[in-house]
This record gives sequence, structure tokens and C-alpha cells, in this order.
Amino acid sequence: MCDSGGGHYGRAVNVVTLPMALLATGYYTPKLCVRHGEPATSLWPVASGTVRDWPFCPRCMKTRRVLRAVAVACAVVPFVLLVAGVILSAEGVLPEKPVQNVVSGALGVGLLTSWVLLARTSPSRLARASVPDSQLFLVIQGAHPAFAAHAADLLRAAEREQPAVPTRAPVFPTAEGQLG
Ligand SMILES: [Zn+2]
Repeated sequence: MCDSGGGHYGRAVNVVTLPMALLATGYYTPKLCVRHGEPATSLWPVASGTVRDWPFCPRCMKTRRVLRAVAVACAVVPFVLLVAGVILSAEGVLPEKPVQNVVSGALGVGLLTSWVLLARTSPSRLARASVPDSQLFLVIQGAHPAFAAHAADLLRAAEREQPAVPTRAPVFPTAEGQLG
């Protein structure tokens, strides 16, 4: 998801923009992950599949596994409480009304948390990548400095080798702008 395309992004911390036209060639896809600036061991599609083979390092994959495990727990625990509550109130061990309140609250909070966490495990969110409405650039927010430098190298190479493709986003600051 992105905003209305007006280019108003609050934090310009290591914002990296890569032209979709370059990424489509496959030759200029980064080799380092966005979050940690480390070499990729996994390749996943991002931006609704429009960019293939995006790099993720083992730490990215671990983050994904942990978030998914916590998301599953957040969804499962309320149902365990539900079953326990039904049994305990049917047995007369606990009063029915407070048990209902606690269980329904836990279900709401647990499922919402689970949904939020699962959304954060999508490859695009892990890569902090989005495509504004113009569809011309992949925008990455909060890139690791090593990734930003790597992306700047790729853009310089592209400017030499693919002069017909515009490598500068008109709205967003480039990695070079951030670094120097
Ligand atoms: Zn990583």
C-alpha cells in the first residue's frame, strides 16, 4: 500500500528509489537485503510480484519465521482460552459472565494482533518496499546503509549501460542524496 502519490513521505531516512524499468531487466536487482545489508540467500517476489527475485538474508528469513510463529500463537491462544472458559463455566468453577468478557476480549485482541503481524511478514513489507501510484519506481524506506550504497552503485552502472532509462526519481531523494 502506498499513499496517494503526492510524494509526501514523513521520514526520508535512507530512502532508495529504483526504476521499475531497470528491475524488470533482471540485471540490476540488488544482491544485498534491505534491512541488514547482507548477502541474500533467499529470493522472493515483491511489489505484488512485479519485481521478481528480491534478496533476503538469513536474518530477514528468521524475522519472518518469528513473526509468523507469534502470529499463530496470538490466534491460537484465545481459542484455548475459549475452550477452557466454556469448560470451567459449565462446571461452575468460574462465573459465566466474566469468562465470556475475558474470552471475547482475548479473541478480538489476539486475532487483530495476528492479522497485523502476518501482514508484516509479506515480502514487500520485509523489504520495506512499495510502488507509488506512478508505477515507475520501487521505493524503499529505511534501507541499511550498505544496501543504499549498493543501490547507488547499481544506479551508476545503469546510467553508464542503460542511458535511455531514467534512473532518478523526480520526487523522492536518491540514495546518493542521503549519503552525501
Ligand atoms: Zn536481511
